[in-house]
Parts: sequence; C-alpha cells; structure tokens
Amino acid sequence: MSIVKLEEFFNFKSQEPINRLAYTKEDMDYKIKVIRKMQELGMDVTIDTIGNICGSIKIGEKPGKTIAIGSHTDSVYNGGQYDGPVGVISGLQTVEELLKSKKHNGTIKVVIYSCEESSRFGNACLGSKYLNGDITPSDFDNIKVQKKSEDGKQITLREAIQEAKKYLHERVQGITEVEKVFDSVDYALEAHIEQYKELAKEYKKNKRQNVIGIVTSVGSAVRVQYDVTGQSDHTGSTPMRKRKNAVDTTALVGKEIIKLGTKYEKTGIGRASQVEISTPGHNRSFNQIPNKAQGLIDFRLLGKNTPDSVLQDFNKILEKVQKKTKTKTEMTVVSKGIPVVTSKELNSTIEKVCIEKNIKSIQMPSYAGQDTGYVPAKKKTMIFIPSKGGSHNPKERTKKEFIELASQVITGTCETILLEKFKDRNAVNIVPKIKSTKQKAVNLKKRQEVRIH
Ligand SMILES: [Zn+2]
Repeated sequence: MSIVKLEEFFNFKSQEPINRLAYTKEDMDYKIKVIRKMQELGMDVTIDTIGNICGSIKIGEKPGKTIAIGSHTDSVYNGGQYDGPVGVISGLQTVEELLKSKKHNGTIKVVIYSCEESSRFGNACLGSKYLNGDITPSDFDNIKVQKKSEDGKQITLREAIQEAKKYLHERVQGITEVEKVFDSVDYALEAHIEQYKELAKEYKKNKRQNVIGIVTSVGSAVRVQYDVTGQSDHTGSTPMRKRKNAVDTTALVGKEIIKLGTKYEKTGIGRASQVEISTPGHNRSFNQIPNKAQGLIDFRLLGKNTPDSVLQDFNKILEKVQKKTKTKTEMTVVSKGIPVVTSKELNSTIEKVCIEKNIKSIQMPSYAGQDTGYVPAKKKTMIFIPSKGGSHNPKERTKKEFIELASQVITGTCETILLEKFKDRNAVNIVPKIKSTKQKAVNLKKRQEVRIH
C-alpha cells in the first residue's frame, strides 16, 4: 500500500474552478494536507519568513547531495487543479520510493514555494524570489493585495503571511520556523504540466507512448510602458501629412511588435505582444486628433536573450515609428526578468532515465515564468507532463498516469544523482522509519477555525 495517493490531492473527475489564492485559507488547507503527508513520510517540516514550506529527509546513512523537488500550490482566480501541485505531490511520491532504496545517500527536500501566481499580489514567484534574495522582508510592507477586501482594506504581504502562519500553526504541530528553508541546494527539480498541448499531441501521435518535456530554458518577462506625445488638431481640417496623431504611433508600434515577436519565436528566443493601448484625456472625441497615447508591451524572453537586447530592439521600433508619425515617445521599464538556461548535465541525466524507462522525451522551453527560474541551486531544471485545456482555467487537466510518470522520472533522476559511488553496500542498512501522524491529525481537526482573508 502506498502512502502518497494521488486521489487525496487531485479529483481527476472534477473540472470545478480552483480558487487557492496565495496565503488564503484554501491555499493553507491544501498545504496542511501536504504537510501531514510529509510528516507521515518522516520528513522534518520547516516554514520560512515568507511562508515557503519544506519537508526534509535524509536518505541512506552516508552524506550525499541535497536535492530540492518542488513547485507551488497557490492558483489564479478560477484556475485549474494541476498547475503547481503536480510538482509538489510527485516530490512526495519520489520520497516514498527513495525511502525503500538502500543504495542511495543524500537529502531530499520537498518544497512548496509560496505565492507563485501573481494574481493576489501582482508579483509572481515571491517564495522563490525570496530564496535567491530578489525579495527581502523589507519589501513585505510595500507589496499589497491587488483587490481590496469588502471592508475596503488592502492588506500587505506581511499581514497575509502572518495570518496564514497563525492559521497553519493552530492546526498542525511540529513545523519549525526558519529564516529560509534553504540558502542553496546542489540540485533543484520541478515537474509541471505543460500548460499547452504539444506533449498531449505527441502522446496521441505516437500511439500513446509516454512522453515528457525536458525544459531547456525558463522564460522571463520584460514589461514596458511607452507614452506618446503628438498634437491635438481638427480631424477634418488638418491635412494627412501635417498630422501628429499619437494613436497612429501605437498602431504602427503594434504592427512592428507582431513582426518582432514572430522573429523571436522563429529563432526560439521569445515572443512579444502589445497588450493595451489607451488615449489619456481624449474623451472619445471624434473630431480631435489625439495628442496623447500610451501602450503596454509584454516581452517573453528565452535562452540567452537578455532584457538589454530586447529593450534595444524596442527602442529602434520607437525611433522608426516616431519619425514617421512626427510624434515623441518615452519608454518606462516596468519589470525586467532574466531568462534562465537550465542545467545541460541534469537534462542529459533525465534523458537517459527516460530511455531506460522507455519514455519519449522532448527538449522544449517554458515560455511562462516558473519558480525554477529563481530557486538558488547549483544545477536546476524542470520537466513538463502532457496536459490539455490550456492552463489558468478550470478545464486544465492531465491524467493520473502522467503525474505518476513525472514521479518516475524525478525518482530515476534522484537515484542517479544519489547513487553511492563506492561498492560497500552493506555499510548502508538504516533507512529512516516512516512515522504515523494520523492520530495527531484527528485531534487537530477539532480545533476552531480562524477566518483568514
Ligand atoms: Zn505553475
């Protein structure tokens, strides 16, 4: 009988929307389920200042490498079940498998990185950014919820963390507070649904041969606002060649952005979109040439593409267009993320594991940002499993078999990393015992519920 059962964490028949916004009661309740399972597996559980949760366990008797396996449990508004939890629960399954082994030595950490989705605080991957130092506790008061509560309150990240921790500690015992769940690890692995349909198509095409994606690069975003100044004039009396129409600039920029994004995509270095244009102060006036316009651009970067080169490309577009429309533009960089190229060594280990297990593997990038992009580790990578229905919506889905596939691949990869280098196998005979925490769980359930925002 296995300890980690997927049905306890996923309802494979349901497509009900998931609202597990970071640090809410719903998010914490799911985390509590995971923590109880960690404790049942004999793991030591810690929580850090930002609320990252980590179960640690030593495998074998001798020292060895430390591997962090993890993802997130929070969701977007009306999201799906699998984006995030797949990487946490497959980590638990890996631990269960490795505990049976007597050949491997090292430490496994299963991590729930807090607040990966930007839905609640307008900022993504908070937990993993905290681990690598991109966010510090001094930022906790400046980061606020996007949506005010019914009483008009807009709570800060610090308040949300405090309430979530209170809720957690009242329900589960034995969680140790630490500053950071880790400073760095030797290896970091993350399994995730693909969030698109390439792998699912491949699975069908190859007569249902198991397939996974090995992520070569984790994307980042560069977000830019540009402001256009033109000249207000009569739309009827002003000759075409005399106009300084601010909206013409946004239209032509949009056209150039499509060209640039397509070029990036063809060469595998990203994508680009104009996401919003507006005409501040224009008041839907048909007889006036708009003198002001504003555009927002979202660039997705992959591989070795840098924010600087993307900004240079965009600058060229602005210069070219403003000359044509006789307007002036000004650019403001809203955010600037650097894409991460994953470890080639780890990727080739995963490839070998897949060959051994008769699983097809495809190298592919993750256009979307992921915790792996920030997690501090000497070597890191992630795998994708087939999924359907897109992502960030309730129709997002994968199969039980594919989550098991992720666990098999992650387990095989850990086994390769933790394999004892010397032959004295008899020296390793103590495997950590699996403790039962069931009784504790029942008692704690009776405690009073505390409402958290
Ligand atoms: Zn995710």
